[in-house]
Amino acid sequence: MQGQMMDYQLTITSLLERARRLFPKKEIVTKAGPSLERFTYAEMVERVGRLANALEKLGVRRGDRVATFAWNNARHLEIYFAAPCMGAVLHPINLRLPGDQIAYIVNHAEDKVLFVDPSLLPAIEKLAPYLKKVEHFIIMGDKVPEGTTISPVHAYEDLLKDSSADYPWPHLGENEAAAMCYTSGTTGNPKGVVYSHRSIYLHSLGLSMADSFGLSERDIFMPVVPMFHVLAWGTPFATVMLGSNLVFPGAHLQPRDLAELIQSEKVTLTAGVPTLWMGILNLLENERYDLSSLRGMIVGGAAAPQSMIEAFEKKHGITVMHAWGMTEMSPLGTVSRLKSYQMDLPDDEKFTLRAKQGTSVPGVEIRAIDESGGEIPWDGKAFGELQVRGPWIVSSYFNDDRSAESFHDGWFRTGDVVTIDAEGFIQIVDRSKDVIKSGGEWISSQDLENAIMAHPKVLEAAVIAVAHPKWQERPLACVVPKPDFKDSLTKEEILEHLKSRFSKMYLPDDVVFIESVPKTSVGKFDKKVLRVQFKDFKLPE
Ligand code: AMP
Repeated sequence: MQGQMMDYQLTITSLLERARRLFPKKEIVTKAGPSLERFTYAEMVERVGRLANALEKLGVRRGDRVATFAWNNARHLEIYFAAPCMGAVLHPINLRLPGDQIAYIVNHAEDKVLFVDPSLLPAIEKLAPYLKKVEHFIIMGDKVPEGTTISPVHAYEDLLKDSSADYPWPHLGENEAAAMCYTSGTTGNPKGVVYSHRSIYLHSLGLSMADSFGLSERDIFMPVVPMFHVLAWGTPFATVMLGSNLVFPGAHLQPRDLAELIQSEKVTLTAGVPTLWMGILNLLENERYDLSSLRGMIVGGAAAPQSMIEAFEKKHGITVMHAWGMTEMSPLGTVSRLKSYQMDLPDDEKFTLRAKQGTSVPGVEIRAIDESGGEIPWDGKAFGELQVRGPWIVSSYFNDDRSAESFHDGWFRTGDVVTIDAEGFIQIVDRSKDVIKSGGEWISSQDLENAIMAHPKVLEAAVIAVAHPKWQERPLACVVPKPDFKDSLTKEEILEHLKSRFSKMYLPDDVVFIESVPKTSVGKFDKKVLRVQFKDFKLPE
């Protein structure tokens, strides 16, 4: 017997329509230089209609890729809805990637139209001769800067002025492509992940569940995570569906800019990678801001150090919501939330749990497989590669013959090595290539980093494997002292600090002090660079 429910198509158009009907007065604020630009949802929806008409006049058709090269701002949000709702495919591009990778991505995706923030125009001018399929460039502002070399080029606001606000949104199938993002590509070329209307719709519901982040109409949400990094973790779609006010930081991403914006706009919820919040924590040590409007801070993309979670909560009363995910997963996979009966645990146990990556959200199934191909027990000790499946998880990469190796039996192989405890909390031990293999034992570089970063004189730390004649690999700690301790922090202090937490075999063989930890294009620690830098490092005997 079959169920007898409607075969209702889950599309982004229905999210936009809901926002139009219910939330015309809600607000979208963008920091633009010293001033703030304000739009209502009513204006946003009208402009989305104009933009869809303008794109159609430029020749954009169903399935065509519409790329953006832009900061987080209100115009970017308009493209987020105009492109998918007209049946085209939104494609935000990571503006921090090297030029050759950007050109690869634009060509591989066969982007037809490219939106460019005026401040980013010089980068695109350099690349334009290599962007083979781009038919139109659109400057996201009032006018086309004089003397630009790209062509044909249009000004965003001119296109809108000349187009009608009424666009007959087509009836789309829920499995049609809505958006795509490329992985930040640590080895080889980046891989394309194509999201469907259905996956984005369901993922939006996933973000809104009380047991994930409980996004709601009452939130004033500030996505600091770039709109090119997994679609700002899917938050623009969820927040517009719900009618939350939005605050976009534009290109102003320094800790002081963000703290001021949270304070002045009374932001209730924000999201970004740990390095960003470490910067804010450091700022708050010396300067005062009223951040009491914040009910939470979604931290993901890399492990949130336990010391950071504790410092925000104990010193500043701000709740850190630690989550794990991937570009291939839209990205939401797990959230570290205590269960009701864990609320009575002693403080240190609670924070230890919260620093884990947490339990899978409804919709995402997990398992971990060890080297012999068997599923690991959920005992918090055994290591294995995490595999996932669910309705917002990739089923193959876009036009890429590397797809096969990433899937096993209908599961997606994440490449993250984890333990899973009896309560179902996963802990990322490492990316499989970061784990340190020492004499048959695996040492988690992330555990060591977290412990070192808990030292009061340490700003940042990365631990890497260095070749060792006897043990195969041994850990080397690369440490950045806080500015006040630059000349005084010693290797002995770091090792002494670790001794009480780790057995001898886990302790780094050496500690080096560095100016800063290199970062990837999305702000994560780039340990590849350190591995090259310290390739021939001689560890003490
Ligand atoms: P990306 O697709 O660029 O977002 O990168 C996904 C990868 O980031 C994951 O496979 C993890 O290795 C890492 N990652 C994401 N969130 C976390 C987290 N909360 N803790 C540790 N690693 C994370």
